[in-house]
Amino acid sequence: MVKRASPLEIYKFLDKSNCKECGLETCMAFSTDLLERKKKLSDCPHLQRPKQAKNLRKLIEITTPPQKPVEFGVGERFCTIGGEEVIYRHSLTFYNEMAIAITLDDNAEDLIDTVKYLTGIVISRLGDDLKLNAIALKCVSNDAETFKTAAKTVVENSDIPVILCCFNPDILLAVAAEIKNKKPLLYAVTKESWEKIGSFAFDEDLPVVCFSNDINELISISASLQKMGVREIVLDPGTFFGEGNVSNTFDNIIQLRLAGINSGDENSGWPIMGVPAALWKDMKVKNDKDLWKFQYKEMIMACIMAAIDTSLVICHTGKKKEDIWALLAILTFRQNVFSDPRVYPAIDPGLEQIGEPGEDAPIFCTTNYRMTVYPVREDIKSANIDAYLLAVDTGGIGVESAVAGGQYSSTAIAEAIEEYKPFEKVKHRIIVIPGMGARLSGAIEDDANCVCIVGPRDSSGIPDFMKKRWDPAKDMAEFAER
Ligand code: SF4
Repeated sequence: MVKRASPLEIYKFLDKSNCKECGLETCMAFSTDLLERKKKLSDCPHLQRPKQAKNLRKLIEITTPPQKPVEFGVGERFCTIGGEEVIYRHSLTFYNEMAIAITLDDNAEDLIDTVKYLTGIVISRLGDDLKLNAIALKCVSNDAETFKTAAKTVVENSDIPVILCCFNPDILLAVAAEIKNKKPLLYAVTKESWEKIGSFAFDEDLPVVCFSNDINELISISASLQKMGVREIVLDPGTFFGEGNVSNTFDNIIQLRLAGINSGDENSGWPIMGVPAALWKDMKVKNDKDLWKFQYKEMIMACIMAAIDTSLVICHTGKKKEDIWALLAILTFRQNVFSDPRVYPAIDPGLEQIGEPGEDAPIFCTTNYRMTVYPVREDIKSANIDAYLLAVDTGGIGVESAVAGGQYSSTAIAEAIEEYKPFEKVKHRIIVIPGMGARLSGAIEDDANCVCIVGPRDSSGIPDFMKKRWDPAKDMAEFAER
C-alpha cells in the first residue's frame, strides 16, 4: 500500500508564516485541508514564488495520490475522475465518484434535443442532485466534417463535458483542435496512434484515454505517453460480454487498480474506465420486445463497474426519456457506492420549515437519521406540501431501530416538542408520527399533551395521507372534548 503523507510531513514544506492568505488561520490547518482535498497547492501564494520551487516540487510528490486524478470539461460541470488512494472505500473514502457518460452518434438527427435532455437530467435523492457527467460523442460517420459539426453542436448547446470517441487519429485530432478550449477527453490512443495523439495532447494539455484489450500493451502505451509528457491519462482495458468475459473485464479493472493504488506502479496509476455500451457494438436487436433485456445487461455491467470503483463508464442506454429507469438504477447505485463513509449518519435535531406552512400546516415527526430525514423532506417538498418537520435526537438511528431501542420514545418526542416548540407555529396540537412508531401514539398524547396521528409507514405515502386523513379542525374538536 502506498503510504499517505501526514499533515506534519506536509507542514515541513510550507512557509509556516500563518499569513492566512489561503483563507485559513494557520499553515497546519492548510496541511490538513490539503490532505482532505479541500485546498490545492495553488491556494498558497507563497508556494508559487520561485524560491519555494523545491518545496512545491516536494509537496506535489508527497500529496499526489497513487492513482492520479484526471479532469476534463470546463466551467461548473467539469469532471474529475480517479485520484483515489485506497482500493476499498471503508479504508479511507473515495474522493471522486464514478463518472457516467452517455454515447451519442455524430450523425444523430435529434442531437440537439438529446444533448439538452441529457444535460438537464437531475434526480434529487437523499440531499444530493444526481446528474450525468459527460456526453461521449461517437464518430460513426467516419467523416471529419460531420464529427466536427456534431462536436460544436454539443458544446454550443450544453456545458456538460465531452468525450470525443474516434479511432481515426486524423479525424479525432481535427475535431479536438476545434473544441480544445472545452477540454474534451480524447478517446482513444492505441498502439498505432499513440505518437500522433500523444504529441497533440502534450501540446494542447488535453487528457487522453489509452485503449488496449491487452493489459501489458495498455501499460506500455501509458508509459510511452508519460515519457512524452502527457499529463492526464485514463486507461481502458476493454469491456467484454459473454461467457467468461465478464469476469475477465472485472479482473482487468481490479488488476490495474491494485497495481496503481497498492503497488504504486506509475503506469497503472491512472483512472480506469469501462464501456458497458460495448454490448451494442455491431448488434441488431431483431425484436423490439427484447430491447429491455440488452439494456438490462448493459446496466448490470455498469453497476458491476461502479461496485469496483471504476472511474468512468460510457453507456448507450439512457438517451431516450422512456429509458430513465436505467439511469435511475446506475445513478442511485453510484450514490450508494461512493458516499463518504466518514460522514456521520446523524443530522442536527430540530424543527425545519418546508415551504410556507400556515397555522393549519401538519407537523411530521421523525428521527435525526440522515437517511430518514432526507427522503421525508424530499417527499414532502415534491408533493408541494407546506409543513414542519421535527427531527428528534435518536443519535442518528432510523425510526424502526430507534423505536425498538427506545431512542424514539414518547419521552424523547415530548422533550423535542418542549425544546423546539412546534405548536407555537400553528394553531393546533397535532403531531404526525411514522407508521413504524404506531405503538407510541397513546404515550405521546399523554407525555406531550397533544393529538398524535399515526402517519404512513413510508414517507412516499404522505401525499395520500394529507388528502385522506389530515383534518386538524376535526381532530382538535375531539381533543377539546377529552
Ligand atoms: S497562505 Fe500559505 S503560508 Fe499563508 S497560512 Fe496559508 S499555507 Fe501558510
